[in-house]
Amino acid sequence: MLRDKIAIVTGSTSGIGLGIAQALARQGAHIMLNGFGDAEPAKAAIAELGVRVSYHGADMSKPAEIEAMVKACEAEFGRVDILVNNAGIQYVAPVEAFPPERWDAIIAINLSAVFHATRAALPGMKQRGFGRIVNVASVHGLVASADKSAYVAAKHGVIGLTKTVALETAASGITCNAICPGWVLTPLVQKQVDDRARADGVDTAEATRRLLGEKQPSMRFTTTEQLGAAAVFLCSEAASNMTGVQMTLDGGWTAQ
Ligand code: NAD
Repeated sequence: MLRDKIAIVTGSTSGIGLGIAQALARQGAHIMLNGFGDAEPAKAAIAELGVRVSYHGADMSKPAEIEAMVKACEAEFGRVDILVNNAGIQYVAPVEAFPPERWDAIIAINLSAVFHATRAALPGMKQRGFGRIVNVASVHGLVASADKSAYVAAKHGVIGLTKTVALETAASGITCNAICPGWVLTPLVQKQVDDRARADGVDTAEATRRLLGEKQPSMRFTTTEQLGAAAVFLCSEAASNMTGVQMTLDGGWTAQ
């Protein structure tokens, strides 16, 4: 379905980004991976799906590196058809105890990077009259939780940016949409489960039950495979007239 499309997926050495990269690759898209840590396992996981795979180590908090990543993809693969803005970090503390440098880092990586990557990829997409921009926002782009000020502010910003880019590109063959996951069991959330287990003096299973019970009525994590399938749909012809939306995969979190 996405045969020979070229996709950049930021923050794809782990978690949701890797799941989305694999789902796009299964549909025939060639992938430029990005993210910290050892990229080799992610590269191997994509390569075994029979598509071309590359990696760029851009730090998403650095605008010049983001621009260089988009340019490197255009140089290596000829273009960027699909941009998945997924890289993200979390930090949890009440506002008055929130370290300013953590605020700056979350805004830079979770919000400003989406602007910088989009800005760099759009001219080529407009020229060719095709583009799919998928922003991995969060339920926290729609509602808040205590102690997540920077994350909630950044993700609300991503939703606003998604709508603006959707309007600016509405008649040019490009769509820009946001995926809003609830809890997904990735390294980012595993840390919150572990912190909860420590704070409440309970085991991992009970901490998981408490975490889900507070917010996610389905009592099940959304999976990276489900998010990959959502991204594939947003990149498909069926979604070509769908732009500026917030697609929630949250087990009922935001229905409450
Ligand atoms: P994760 O920690 O498993 O993966 C994050 C990825 O981003 C990794 O590849 C990491 O190397 C990369 N990354 C972090 N900082 C970076 C930087 N400065 N430059 C380049 N890459 C960087 O986390 P995840 O849970 O898979 O999160 C992915 C996205 O999904 C994030 O935007 C997150 O906010 C969002 N999200 C996650 C959940 C969840 O429950 N896990 C829910 C809603 C939204």
